Amino acid sequence: MNKGLIFDIRRFTVHDGPGIRTTVFFKGCPLSCWWCHNPESHSCYPEESLKSLNLDGKKFSLKEMIGKWMSVEEVMSELRMDRIFYTESSGGVTFSGGEPLMQSEFLLELLKECKANNLHTTLDTSGYTDRGIIENIQPYADLFLYDLKLIDDTDHIRYTGVSNKPILENLIYLISEEKQVIIRIPVIPDITNTKKNIKAIIKFLSHLVNERKSASSIKISLLPYHSIAKNKYSRFHIDNKTMHLKDLTKESLIPLKNEFEAEGFTVRIGS
Ligand code: SF4
Repeated sequence: MNKGLIFDIRRFTVHDGPGIRTTVFFKGCPLSCWWCHNPESHSCYPEESLKSLNLDGKKFSLKEMIGKWMSVEEVMSELRMDRIFYTESSGGVTFSGGEPLMQSEFLLELLKECKANNLHTTLDTSGYTDRGIIENIQPYADLFLYDLKLIDDTDHIRYTGVSNKPILENLIYLISEEKQVIIRIPVIPDITNTKKNIKAIIKFLSHLVNERKSASSIKISLLPYHSIAKNKYSRFHIDNKTMHLKDLTKESLIPLKNEFEAEGFTVRIGS
């Protein structure tokens, strides 16, 4: 039986798509974004990690295994538990990571099972995959949360480790297929939030608008940088290259929101 490597299943999530959801986190990602909030997702293998606990002023270390091989039925039995909440809130299930498309066969089986169970499905993705994989997956995903980071390919390679070519091409494909897509732009000071990059993103998105599609049909979420994951970097022995950056407030992104809205796009701050 096909198994997938999952590092978390979070219930009652409200930031990963509409309504109340259960989010399944896939382990493994082909990117290594400098600002990643889930560095524990990067490796495609289960990893042992030491978690620090503070109990009554005493510090303890606890060994924790990150990543568990699960069958489709094991995941589905978790997902079915909260069906009532999905129904009441128009919510559903979100597949996130890491990059779920790295385990595309397992993901496809799960998506098909969700649709057979009438569950709304959202895929949170970097979009970094082969076109054939996106083509196979897209009929079973009701909504894509699609990251758009950097338009200049050299910058993209520098800050994420990979080229953005398949990412941009797959986004164009999904929009042309009339899929529901929310484009998520992580706003990282001096990296993604530069005049040059914002101008290039606006230009790229404007090209997605044609006679059939209005600019307002392009939905954007601006995600303010925060350093919530900084402690995880040392736990997983990953260099934290954005350590020096200060967290951004939602209010500080209002001028940027206005800039995108002036082009006609539908924009919100936060996920
Ligand atoms: S694509 Fe997402 S999970 Fe992967 S490294 Fe970037 S931010 Fe982290």
